Amino acid sequence: MSNDFLFAAEDESLPAPPPVPAEEAEPWLVLVVDDEPEVHAVTRLALSKLRFQGRRLRLISAASAEEATEILRCVDDIAIVLLDVVMETGDAGLQLVRTIREDLGNQTVRIILRTGQPGQAPEEDIILAYDINDYKSKTDLTAKKLFTTVVTALRSYAGLRELEASRRGLQQIIRSADTLFELRSMPAFAAGVLDQLSRLLRARPDAVLYAQRGGCDGCGDDPAAGSACVLAGAGRYAGISGDPALLLPPPVAESLARTFTERRSVFGPETASLHIRVPEGPEVAALIHTERPLDPVDRALMEVFAAKIAVGFVNIRLYERLREANETLEARVAERTRALEEANAKLNRLATQDPLTGVLNRRRFLELARMEMRRAKRHRRALSLFLLDLDRFKQVNDTHGHAAGDEVLCTVVARARAVLRDADQVARFGGEEFVVLLPETDEDGALAVAERLRRAIAGLPVDVDGLPVQVTASIGVASWAAAEPSLEHTLRRADAALYEAKQAGRNRVCRAAAV
Ligand code: GH3
Ligand code: MG
Ligand code: MG
Repeated sequence: MSNDFLFAAEDESLPAPPPVPAEEAEPWLVLVVDDEPEVHAVTRLALSKLRFQGRRLRLISAASAEEATEILRCVDDIAIVLLDVVMETGDAGLQLVRTIREDLGNQTVRIILRTGQPGQAPEEDIILAYDINDYKSKTDLTAKKLFTTVVTALRSYAGLRELEASRRGLQQIIRSADTLFELRSMPAFAAGVLDQLSRLLRARPDAVLYAQRGGCDGCGDDPAAGSACVLAGAGRYAGISGDPALLLPPPVAESLARTFTERRSVFGPETASLHIRVPEGPEVAALIHTERPLDPVDRALMEVFAAKIAVGFVNIRLYERLREANETLEARVAERTRALEEANAKLNRLATQDPLTGVLNRRRFLELARMEMRRAKRHRRALSLFLLDLDRFKQVNDTHGHAAGDEVLCTVVARARAVLRDADQVARFGGEEFVVLLPETDEDGALAVAERLRRAIAGLPVDVDGLPVQVTASIGVASWAAAEPSLEHTLRRADAALYEAKQAGRNRVCRAAAV
């Protein structure tokens, strides 16, 4: 992995963070391990003035390898171990090197071996066999040399820590990008970006994500309200909306405005405004309260994070458009399906119903009647029918008009329905002629029903626009006989009976001749 970007020369327009006053900064920890109390005192004296990168030193003392092991186990950011070789045993210091590197797994701490008996273990052998960073004889190590040795070791420790921090940060960015790319809506994605950013910087999640006006589809903000609108807010900015110029403290609002106009991240003493360059998308900026000036590693990590997630904004926009297109398509399909179902239902009605009166048409009646006949045959049940024809209906039309005639036809159907059972079927057979099928009904029963209907029709004039129109009907009744080969035979007998009723003077019911 290249770390060039982490340590590349800083953009001149981005000043490095001002050094933190020494008394505020955490000191470098140096562990002095030696069984001679005198060595501790001398070391302390020699290093008491040392400052490196604005931070002073804090010395921790251990009189044995065992004590040092305990301290190293508990304190994880010790920068240097100044280590004696001969302590509780002749090679206690060398054994401690192994413990530090292998048992404690600490590869970062710089180990400087200081021996009082250099002849005992030749320097070349020791430096090859043990993972130490320096080897000095106590006699050689003057105060000045100790100072130089410690500064060199601190520099390399700081470099390793930076490397370690960026390695961890990069790992976290890769993980967080994976998490973020699973999100499918802009609000969730935007909130996720802020969450991951504050984790990366180990900062409180006081952050807000802005898109430059015109790029924030559906944020709900008033388009005239300012130059940017909120995609998400967290911590003290949770649930906010509106113009950053009105919302943020002036210096913070200004750094955000600069991020948009100069199209780059702006780092302040307590906030950072991260520029997210979205390909073919809106300008996006994440503003976060860091409460500290960010070091170069954190700044570089933020920029890597921004570059990595930028494409997520494009994905979300595409995904949202796809979803909208899908929803429109689904709505259109649903609408078409509804229209088709309506058309089908209408077609079905047209195919089976008489449009004027709503009763069955002749075709559907014949289908049903054949089914009923088969059922009657199978179960040896009675089945009857009658044909009804309005008397001198032509005169009704001629006298009152065709519309009045239609009204009369509908009234006759209503009266028939009132007289018949649910199981009975009425159908319009033609013009002013109707047929009624009566399942489970023998001839006498059918005659009674027909007579009741005849009376219902004749009993009360039909009211047509306030005008009473007297209507009567003639009816021919026939009962299906098992010997009859088809229903048409029964209908023909009913028709003959109807003719007979007409001949006999109309407004009457006649029984068909037996088979
Ligand atoms: P009869 O007693 O012999 O049956 O005499 P009628 O006048 O009823 O018989 P005819 O067959 O001469 O006349 C039937 C009339 O029914 C003729 C026709 O205009 C009318 N008619 C048929 N269908 C409709 C309709 O849907 N609406 C209207 N208003 N009249 C219809
Ligand atoms: Mg008629
Ligand atoms: Mg007729």
